[in-house]
Order: sequence, then C-alpha cells, then structure tokens
Amino acid sequence: MNTARPTPALAGAADPAVDWARVRADFPLLTRQVHGKPLVYLDSANTGQKPAVVIDTVDDFYRRHNANVSRAVHALGSEATEAYEAARGKLARHLNVRADEMVLTSGTTFAINLVAYAWALPRLKPGDAILLTRMEHHANIVPWQLIAERAGAVIRVAEITPDGALDLDALHAAMTPEVKLLGVTHVSNVLGTVNPVRGICREARRRGIVTVVDGSQAVPHMAVDIAAIGCDFYAFTGHKMCGPTGTGGLWGRREHLQAMPPFLGGGEMIRQVRFEGTVFNDPPHRFEAGTPNIAGHIGLGAAVDYLDALGMDRVAEREADLLAHLTQAMQQVEGLRIFGTAPHKASVVSFLVEGAHAHDLATLLDLEGVAVRSGHHCAHPLMQYFGVPATCRASVAFYNTHDEIEAFVAALRKVRRLLG
Ligand code: PLP
Repeated sequence: MNTARPTPALAGAADPAVDWARVRADFPLLTRQVHGKPLVYLDSANTGQKPAVVIDTVDDFYRRHNANVSRAVHALGSEATEAYEAARGKLARHLNVRADEMVLTSGTTFAINLVAYAWALPRLKPGDAILLTRMEHHANIVPWQLIAERAGAVIRVAEITPDGALDLDALHAAMTPEVKLLGVTHVSNVLGTVNPVRGICREARRRGIVTVVDGSQAVPHMAVDIAAIGCDFYAFTGHKMCGPTGTGGLWGRREHLQAMPPFLGGGEMIRQVRFEGTVFNDPPHRFEAGTPNIAGHIGLGAAVDYLDALGMDRVAEREADLLAHLTQAMQQVEGLRIFGTAPHKASVVSFLVEGAHAHDLATLLDLEGVAVRSGHHCAHPLMQYFGVPATCRASVAFYNTHDEIEAFVAALRKVRRLLG
C-alpha cells in the first residue's frame, strides 16, 4: 500500500508555521487555466480539491492492491481489507470516536437517510415531532419529511435571526416533549454560520431528544471532537475534506447502532443467511451492505493523514484569515449584499449584486477564471427566508491565496460594470 505521506509544508521543526504556497502546490488541479485565465477556485463548500497524495493513494490501490474487502482470503483481499479498515480507524481518531461506531457511507446524504430509516422510522409515532432548523441543507430536511409522513409525525422548524445565526431561545423553546429528534447543521453551507452544537446537544439531551448533527461543512474546516459535542449521530462527507467523492460516514452512539435494524440488506452485513431467517452482522458492518467504495475510503484515509499532518487548528486559523480578507474586500463592492453575517462563521460568503441574477454573475465570473457556486445551494427554506430565488457563494479553503481573493474581487467589479 502507498505509505508515502508527504507532510504538508511545515516551515521547519522549530517553526510550526506552514508554508501555504507549498501546501497549495500539493493540489495539482489548482495550476490549471480556465477560459485562458488562471483558475481561482472558490467553490470548496461544493466539493474540495484533492492533494496529490490522495489521488496517488487511489491510483496505487487500483494498480497494486485492488480486491474486494472482507471476503477473499488471498493476499490482495487482506491488503484491501486492512487498508479499508485502517481508513475507518483514521477517521475515528480524527473525530475522536471509536472505530466500531463509525459507519462508512457514500456521504452525508446516505448517513442521514440511514438514521431516518433505521433509527427514526421504527420509533416515531403519530403526534411525535422532528425539530429542524431553517438553515438545514435538503439532505437534513427531505429524509425527515419522508419519514414523518410514514410515521404520522410532524416537522417543526427553529428559526434564525436576520444575521443568519440560530435563534437559540426559540430553538430551546421548541424542544417540547413531542420532539423526539433534532437535526441541526454544525456549519451552514449557505451562511457559513458555525452553530454552538455542543450546547444545543446538551439542551436536547436533557430533554431526552436524540440529536443528528450534519457535519458536512464543519469537518473540512476545523478540529471536530464528536465526543465533546455529545450528539447521538454525526454525519459527514469525505469529498469536502480533500477526500474522493462518494465517501463519508456516520458516527452513532453504540447503543443506538446496536438497537438499529439494517437499512439495506445484502452481502457483508450478515453473519448467517438461511431462507428461514438471517442473522445480521454487528455495527458498523451491519450498515455497509454490498461492496463499498473501497478505493475512495482508502483515499479518504490519506486525506485524513494529510489534514492531520497540516493540523486542523492551523487550517482553521488560515481559513479565518482568508475569510476575513474576503469579507472585507467584498464589502467594498458597491451594491453587493452578503447573506449571513453571524459573528462565528466558517469559509463561506453568500452574496448578490444589485440588479444581477446569481447565475449571470457566476457565468461571467467563470469567464474570468473564477469558480463560484450559484443557485439555491440545496437550501430552499433559507432562500425563502431571505426572499431570493438564489445567491452566489464564494467559499475558501486553506489552499486559496490572498492574491486569489484580490483577483476575485477585481473580477466581481468588472462583472458588475458589465451587468450594470
Ligand atoms: N449537508 C450540507 C450542509 C452540505 O453542504 C452538503 C453538501 O453540499 C450535504 C449535506 C450533502 O452532502 P453529500 O451530497 O456529500 O451527501
């Protein structure tokens, strides 16, 4: 197995500062041009770019080790299984939880659906309520609607304040005895708001409410300690944290995972199958039916190594610096409105320019080499709150540069003139 794990460019043992230019050089895609201009990639909240070590790890797996996991006794089968399980262990350590409580999934969407169908559906009764917040991604709304309809339960919504923070008083007041489950995002993919999930989960737990935290936009940007958060389930996606697409996981408290029936049936998730009945495997394998994304998760393990070597606190510090620059520079652009100005934010600025449609802005920015996302960001209820059909979103990662922010804002001014 490829064990080459280039340590991200630390300036030297005595000086733990990071050479961010060298870190950027770890990401091959960032050197390319788009429409004849240097690429300025400001869409990492959508999907993150991958360092060479992740690409090489996936490549190495297919070239030298490719086999199915947990089935074959031959050497390749053992190597593949070992590397796949090692990736689970790395993720668990990275997030401070036990490996046998870490279900590997195709991402957050699958992870939340797993909780919805295997934990919630068998338990919810007519009259029960599922509490969500206004700022949830559709992946943390639609599965609950599907389940609520089948169980006769209702969805309740905790509102936000105009700056895009959660209204914590309203959230706590909404935690009434009918509420059996709370779904809350750790970081909003539209507003960038970092929610105080530790305190929220403590309040929910005191009231016997099971908590599902959507960590998709948190794990790429900060050190996440799931044990300290004290939630019941934590879902995340690998492709936003330097890993391959189709990877991610669900952490669940042991007692929940053990009490949950399988979500999907098939190979791998069983101990013994007879036509009279099947004995299921223990968690986490009970929830991993069929051949998983082996290469992808091994690649995700390499991404975790990469981020660990960099240090998530350094990543958070670097991104806070970039975000402050980005926000301040955008505020100077005439007619630009920022959505989400809560005091505690991560890496995302949603915006509109007076008189311009989000898609027109994004299309013209693309011609300048700048990649930003435009649309509803899978957050229709949030768009509804702000009374707009869509916004543009610029999102930064540690591999972006201050020069790119200047180039983006210059392009924004140019585009604004063209549209004005
Ligand atoms: N939740 C949030 C906050 C997200 O930003 C995303 C992806 O954009 C998701 C859930 C869904 O993640 P995936 O499509 O990887 O399952």
